[in-house]
Amino acid sequence: MVFKVDHPFITDSLTHLRDQQTELAKFRRYSNKLCQLLFAEAIRGLDFNEVDITTPLEITIKSKKLKDEVIIIPVLRSGLAMLFGALDLLPKSKIGFMGLERDEKTAVAKEYYCKLPKIRENSVVIITDPMLATGGSILQVLRKLRGFKPKDIRIVSVVSAPEGIALIQKEFPKVAIFTSAVDDHLNNNKYIVPGIGDYGDRYFGTSV
Ligand code: URA
Repeated sequence: MVFKVDHPFITDSLTHLRDQQTELAKFRRYSNKLCQLLFAEAIRGLDFNEVDITTPLEITIKSKKLKDEVIIIPVLRSGLAMLFGALDLLPKSKIGFMGLERDEKTAVAKEYYCKLPKIRENSVVIITDPMLATGGSILQVLRKLRGFKPKDIRIVSVVSAPEGIALIQKEFPKVAIFTSAVDDHLNNNKYIVPGIGDYGDRYFGTSV
């Protein structure tokens, strides 16, 4: 399932992110806000506990508190860029790390680091990678999670390529993908077209 998240603020933010003139601070600001909105959508369907609370008017009511635990796994390095907005929204989330590096010649992702929190049956795992390009890195994370039994696994990306979506859906058809845009294609260097460029470089300021 692909959920193309639509919101006026997402549309506006994407324009700023795609614009090559957008400088570092502005890129970060729009990225953080956009990621908050994507995450707000990606946690739909989570379970709640019923709790009694007393309001300042001394009235006790039944209300709901999030029960499920969210585990975010940012695919290093650019997945980290999505963490800042996500943690504003979900400050209790646990974070798992999986470092994958793309071989520039073969474009195949190789794992160089992995540290995951305990994954329980009420854990909802959200994998973040702002550019779902070939899908190779996310596929490796999904395969790594096969041995665990989380309640659900979801993917959040800013921009996705049809090629990456197809690769993931072929092996993991039940994993939901939340994205703000599905672009046209990948170029010969496996960059998304029209895309945003190198998201990590633009967010972390390493492009110049
Ligand atoms: N990674 C990026 O940062 N951008 C792309 O277009 C593809 C992969």
